[in-house]
Amino acid sequence: MTSSRFPGYDIIVIGAGVAGLMAGITATNLGARTLVVAKGVGSTALTTGAIDILGTQNIPPTRSPAQAGPISMLPSPIRPASLSAALQQLRQSQPHHPYAIISQENLQAGIELFRHTCAQAGLHYTGIADENLWLPTALGAVRPTALAPAAQQAGVVDRPEPYLIVGFHQLKDFYPLYLADNLNRTSGHPARGIYLEIPRIAARADWFTLYLAQLFDDPALRYTVAQQIRSHLLPGERVGFPAVLGQQTSQPEIPWLDLQHLLGVPVFEIPTVPPSVPGWRMFEALKAGFRAAGGQLLIGSQVVESSVDKQKVLAIKVQTAARLLTLEAGAFILAAGGLYGGGLLSYWDGKLEEPLFGLPVATPGAAQITDWHRPTYGAAHPAQEFGLATNAQLQPLDANQEPAFENLFAAGAMLAHWNPWHEKSGDGVTIATGYQAALSATHCLGDRV
Ligand SMILES: Cc1cc2nc3c(=O)[nH]c(=O)nc-3n(C[C@H](O)[C@H](O)[C@H](O)COP(=O)(O)OP(=O)(O)OC[C@H]3O[C@@H](n4cnc5c(N)ncnc54)[C@H](O)[C@@H]3O)c2cc1C
Repeated sequence: MTSSRFPGYDIIVIGAGVAGLMAGITATNLGARTLVVAKGVGSTALTTGAIDILGTQNIPPTRSPAQAGPISMLPSPIRPASLSAALQQLRQSQPHHPYAIISQENLQAGIELFRHTCAQAGLHYTGIADENLWLPTALGAVRPTALAPAAQQAGVVDRPEPYLIVGFHQLKDFYPLYLADNLNRTSGHPARGIYLEIPRIAARADWFTLYLAQLFDDPALRYTVAQQIRSHLLPGERVGFPAVLGQQTSQPEIPWLDLQHLLGVPVFEIPTVPPSVPGWRMFEALKAGFRAAGGQLLIGSQVVESSVDKQKVLAIKVQTAARLLTLEAGAFILAAGGLYGGGLLSYWDGKLEEPLFGLPVATPGAAQITDWHRPTYGAAHPAQEFGLATNAQLQPLDANQEPAFENLFAAGAMLAHWNPWHEKSGDGVTIATGYQAALSATHCLGDRV
């Protein structure tokens, strides 16, 4: 195994999930020569493609369809009703939460940068008028989210139209009749489901979502699908598809817009089980935005070691397919994911480890392994809040609660003191901390940038 030295970058970001790519885009826009290095693509393609900022029960839909009928699965409206008021409340009650560390202005700036970057790639996001959207899931439940791809927007429960949900026998794990039955109860709107019989789709026994999405890039297939739906469509209905409406990345909304045009009614996508096409589109849009800004991306290469002195990170060692590289930079951003993403490791005896820099992993409220569990399904599990404790600049802290290294910053699922699942705050925190970490890293470079 050989080792070679590359000319230094200003900033190296470890990880190409939403946190790493947002950090890379921000740093590059600020003029830093930036490399994003990652062993894989992160959890982006597992997500719905929608951006959750804060969706817990204290943020009800402000225009709840509860007026239209009994909706058992929507929380009853309680104050505060707005997203910004709920965030303010969270900042006061949880001072270590990443949202308490990052200002509202930087959260908004990060979200706007995300939105702008995706729009440049032809992927438009709607929502965030200080309230959550409530969108159908593949099981027919409804979930709150702050920012949704435009192709999902017409599914919101506060629109009046009844739902027609279409599916294909060959796409497993998307059951339109079951979905519609549940959606009828959870949204309060009439909903019905049908299976389409399209010869080109029926040619295979089952389809992987990304391959089925490729078929929808073909206008002829969309025409056939629309013709068949028209024979079922009742006046006033909107049409929900599994999220497989096109996979090409240059103009990702064309297949959805074309179907809407052909049918003459609102059409929307419902996210499927992974791999999620909307998540994949988001990843492609962020990747394109980073490259267009001038950043360099090295995917498929694992950071295996760091070289540090007392106060600074000097370099990282990266195992590429061909050789071991030593890469130097003025600052580093660690966005390697949490316990799911591989950035943090846990062992059978309760030992937790950040493997690259030896940073301590905070275990708020659960010091012993016996405290990690909760008896109730769906309860806020303490392990979800494990991660790196940081200061306001997002510098990870050492055991003495001091910045471990002056030029190391952390972002995303690695951070402690938040619970993406319970709060429904996944990519909101991830975008905001990626943005903030890049601001701090660029600032630490001083005149170098
Ligand atoms: C199944 C699932 C569904 C979700 N759905 C939603 C949703 O609908 N809406 C929402 O807002 N949020 C959702 N989230 C949460 C949200 O996506 C996460 O908060 C977010 O993905 C975390 O991003 P990240 O960039 O911090 O980490 P990750 O996405 O985990 O990325 C980590 C990156 O680091 C790399 N890496 C790790 N170790 C190394 C190493 N040693 N060397 C090099 N690279 C390394 C990985 O390869 C990867 O590129 C979901 C998460 C999951 C898992």
